[in-house]
Amino acid sequence: MMRGLTFYKRFSRDFHDNPSLVKLLLVFTVSGGGVVAYSESKSYGLNVVHASEADSKKKRVVVLGTGWAGTSFLKNLKNSEYDVQVISPRNYFAFTPLLPSVTCGTVDARSVVEPVRKIIRKKTLDIHYWEAECFKIDAQNKKVYCRSSQDTNLSGEEEFVVDYDYLVIAIGARVNTFNTPGVEENCHFLKEVEDAQKIRRTVIDCFERASLPTLSDEERKRILQFVIVGGGPTGVEFAAELHDFVSEDIVKLYPQVKDLVKITLLEAGEHILNMFDKRITAFAEKIPKGCPIDVTNRRVLATDEWLRVEGCDSVYALGDCATINQRKVMEDIAAIFSKADKDNSGTLTVKELQEVIDNICQRYPKIQKSSLPGGLPNEKSSATAQVAAQQGSYLADCFNRMEECEKNPEGPLRFRGEGRHRFRPFRYKHFGQFAPLGGEQTAAQLPGDWVSIGHSSQWLWYSVYASKQVSWRTRVLVVSDWTKRFIFGRDSSSI
Ligand SMILES: Cc1cc2nc3c(=O)[nH]c(=O)nc-3n(C[C@H](O)[C@H](O)[C@H](O)COP(=O)(O)OP(=O)(O)OC[C@H]3O[C@@H](n4cnc5c(N)ncnc54)[C@H](O)[C@@H]3O)c2cc1C
Repeated sequence: MMRGLTFYKRFSRDFHDNPSLVKLLLVFTVSGGGVVAYSESKSYGLNVVHASEADSKKKRVVVLGTGWAGTSFLKNLKNSEYDVQVISPRNYFAFTPLLPSVTCGTVDARSVVEPVRKIIRKKTLDIHYWEAECFKIDAQNKKVYCRSSQDTNLSGEEEFVVDYDYLVIAIGARVNTFNTPGVEENCHFLKEVEDAQKIRRTVIDCFERASLPTLSDEERKRILQFVIVGGGPTGVEFAAELHDFVSEDIVKLYPQVKDLVKITLLEAGEHILNMFDKRITAFAEKIPKGCPIDVTNRRVLATDEWLRVEGCDSVYALGDCATINQRKVMEDIAAIFSKADKDNSGTLTVKELQEVIDNICQRYPKIQKSSLPGGLPNEKSSATAQVAAQQGSYLADCFNRMEECEKNPEGPLRFRGEGRHRFRPFRYKHFGQFAPLGGEQTAAQLPGDWVSIGHSSQWLWYSVYASKQVSWRTRVLVVSDWTKRFIFGRDSSSI
């Protein structure tokens, strides 16, 4: 994160010092691995965050990250029996699905963020926030090592240690360049609010530069060639936003250069929006297509279905920094058989099988998927805000009912051990997805194979995104930004 910021500082300075660099605007919409490494360490010489007397009797939950997963966890946590410490270098929650709208001034950056302190102030629980990033976790001694995000503080001590009983890791993913040469030096990323603001300034700078009288048409064309890397929903949405910005606002403000603009979307796969229904892909492919780039997998923490990090005690991971390793039924088949075979006859009767079938379905969702008509969504959930938010609220619910479920476990039978699991495993419910395509048209794919493309889906998109805002403040700001845009158009000043 810090490295990213320094890179941007350096990069934007380079842009200003060297105008010829502003030829291409490349937007990387790919994600990368988590940043925290597990290790053992001593806390000597570092400040340790102690609990107050009242809190010292409580179990301490440390939450890393204030994105979709962390914020959803905090918003849903109701159990006052915990002393909660939140650590994140970003003191606000950002509504990332609207970042493409920030890049062209459709929505203001401040309208899509909510301060963390405002979110936690509303809770009746004991929650403390530290603006810092965690750089090391000592899982054995249950300590996290943190560094303040401020450049310096008065005593020059920027590092401190926080003990935990439970650790919730929700640090998201890092932008991954996939080691593509030149990406760091020549591209913009679209991951954080600052990225969206920088893209907005650069786009407008490009139009101002292209309008200067000293340039040839060839140079103007080069400056106004925008290349977007990644044909997923974010890349397509940014391309659509840029297209609308140019066709609705820029044409009136920069009439002399409007015909020189070219927007190209690069995608490694055969189709853009390939996670959507084929009808949506076909419709969206009216956007120009270019040559491919290489893509590889992201690096993440592996968890079980209860979001517990494998091999670590009391550590949970949610959101983009984690992936659930679903157990396969064949790995446990012998254990399942012996658990079901109550009379040790060596064969299973229908009755014996019926008695364990619900537990098998709960524990191994693939079984459920193949046996039920239409199947159920879950198994390998993708890195989206929807997954992160559901995981946050699931884990908060587990923490809320920790004691209750200790006494009366509600999870499936333990096939390899005794008794039942405390909680039901996490199940992702897919509520559908949107891909704004520009020109007030959106593609919507909702559960039940319901696909809609057009203006009516755009209104559905407006209402869903307004309703999903984290607070009434941001809801009002976003709706008023949309209204301002309808009436006055987008603001093209480069501030
Ligand atoms: C432009 C864009 C558009 C998107 N649109 C959609 C969409 O329409 N629908 C959808 O479902 N998903 C969308 N996504 C994906 C969605 O934003 C992510 O899946 C979601 O943000 C993941 O949530 P998270 O909590 O895991 O991570 P994040 O939201 O990235 O939050 C990570 C948090 O961890 C903090 N952090 C990072 N490092 C550390 C550290 N070392 N110590 C402590 N804290 C740390 C960060 O400051 C941040 O607060 C979009 C993403 C982008 C970038």
